Amino acid sequence: MSRTLSLRTRLLGLQLVVFGGLVLLAGPVTSTLLSRSLQRDRDRHLGGMAAGLAREYLAAGRSTGFEQPCLVGAVPPGSPDPQATHRPRHFLVVDPSGRVLCGDGESEPLRPDAVAETLATGNPAFSDVRWSAERLRLVAWPFDSREGRPLVMEVGASQSVIQSALRRGVVVMAVVDLAALGFLFAGSLLLTRRAFEPIERIVSRVEGIDEANLAARLPVEPGIDEANRLAGVLNRLLERLERAFEAQRRFSSDVAHEIRSPLTALRGQIEVALRRPRPQEEYRRVLEECLEEVLRLSRLAEDLMSLARADAGVLEARRERLDLRDLMRHLLGRFRVRVEEKDLRVSLDAPAEVRVTGDPDLLSRLLENLVDNAIIHSPRMEEVRVAIRSEDRWARVTVSDRGPGIPPEHLGRIFDRFYRVDPARSREQGGSGLGLAIAKEIAQLHGGRLEVESTVGEGSSFRVSLPVATWS
Ligand code: ADP
Repeated sequence: MSRTLSLRTRLLGLQLVVFGGLVLLAGPVTSTLLSRSLQRDRDRHLGGMAAGLAREYLAAGRSTGFEQPCLVGAVPPGSPDPQATHRPRHFLVVDPSGRVLCGDGESEPLRPDAVAETLATGNPAFSDVRWSAERLRLVAWPFDSREGRPLVMEVGASQSVIQSALRRGVVVMAVVDLAALGFLFAGSLLLTRRAFEPIERIVSRVEGIDEANLAARLPVEPGIDEANRLAGVLNRLLERLERAFEAQRRFSSDVAHEIRSPLTALRGQIEVALRRPRPQEEYRRVLEECLEEVLRLSRLAEDLMSLARADAGVLEARRERLDLRDLMRHLLGRFRVRVEEKDLRVSLDAPAEVRVTGDPDLLSRLLENLVDNAIIHSPRMEEVRVAIRSEDRWARVTVSDRGPGIPPEHLGRIFDRFYRVDPARSREQGGSGLGLAIAKEIAQLHGGRLEVESTVGEGSSFRVSLPVATWS
């Protein structure tokens, strides 16, 4: 079974791989560099020693008058002399024919090949050799005899001091590396734990939040860091979720309430009618009343469907080119009877045609809602004014009445679903409180907006703004 690693473990692993790798690499690299530097110094020292011995050899010859004097002072092999690195452990002077002119007792050079190379090139040649259970660094050093004959001084110095220094260095470095790795592990563990602690706190708090306690919020600790930003973002998300859940809850209970009232009325009327036999006219009256309730229910169902479609983003508007003035004229005709019943005057102020692109049915429904409300809320014998204008690429339809107006504290909510300023009256007039909510959705669906201005005691004015059709 494959298991995904937590981000914390991954980060810890990454730190250990990167920094641990660097620490482990630092050991061999440092000891190689150190060893090279020591060898360079030792070769320089060995060269100096060979040149000094050559000078001594020539000087000794001059003082004794012999051409081949020999030197004293080379340390014999196996000597525990602590000066061994500063003094030669082995030396010989060889002539071009390979004859040993002087030395520490060896009958031939330890590295004849290096001697031959030096004689051939005239350059010093360095090499390593194992000699009497000891490792020596050798140099074949070229110099000329007093007569100008080329000679080679083979000098060897002990490697033991450098080797033991390097060995000690490796041990020290291994100990330091291990300690560094230990500190690194502990430090990384602590650091990642510290860094992830706030996020883990947030995760466990969020895990405890469900629809029953959506009011819970995550603590935002002082200081600005990623965990606080995350907490802030989640808090805002929780707030939106809480509001959406609350709206949903309210909506469901409103729907249930709206459906219950006409159903109760229907049931009551039918039950009373069935209690005993009645004349035909009475059945007819009951049926007519029932039909009214049924019509109300089906209007409500239709409105709810439209809102649900708008919420789901599937309320689609046909895109037809239409003249708002035409649409309004047609629509006002349908209100003639109700207008006459209330002795109202309806004026249409639309000097020119105003073309928009949209769905004639949906736009009719929007405008119908506004005119319907204006007629409902207008006192008898008053005037309802409708104006249609085109301004700055916006088509504006204003429906104004001289009704009671809407108190300012309700103005912000009248576009909410099921919101009524006076619920009892509105219900009596057959309103469901969904008309303006749907009107607003339709305006938005067409890229427009619906606004209201109202003064209590003077009247209300609803204004729809829609983009003017751009194609001819
Ligand atoms: P309803 O179907 O109840 O009329 P609406 O969504 O159309 O629902 O309107 C919401 C509420 O806004 C109404 O209940 C009413 O109180 C108020 N309202 C709407 N239009 C007007 C108006 N022209 N004058 C006064 N109040 C209005």
